[in-house]
Amino acid sequence: MEIAIIAHDGKKADMVQFLNKNTVILQNEKVKLVATGTTGSKAEKAGFKVKKMLSGPLGGDAQIASRVAEGKTKMVLFFKDPLASHAHEVDINMLLRVCDVHNVPIATNEATAQLLLNAITLKL
Ligand code: PGA
Repeated sequence: MEIAIIAHDGKKADMVQFLNKNTVILQNEKVKLVATGTTGSKAEKAGFKVKKMLSGPLGGDAQIASRVAEGKTKMVLFFKDPLASHAHEVDINMLLRVCDVHNVPIATNEATAQLLLNAITLKL
């Protein structure tokens, strides 16, 4: 199962903490992680194997949206920073829309991300 992780700059530390809290599930052989560029680098530094896309502002969110549309990415964990504005807001909205179009679960905050991971733990 391919899971995408994305964190805005103000949420990257929270994302790393979240990943470390969920190593058992995220390092399960059935789970493959993909990420936007900088988030992916942080995850790698924390010891996770992750396929990196471009950085978000350079099209990484769009690449992940494309993977969702193609049926590759099955879940998106997106730690959005609601207190910052983003040059690539249109790409972010596009990702949210594509997930809705394809009925792919997308969490936009940590609490929901944890619930989604807990749900798949039961299935793996
Ligand atoms: P980043 O992109 O992981 O490359 O910082 C995240 C984003 O801003 O969408």
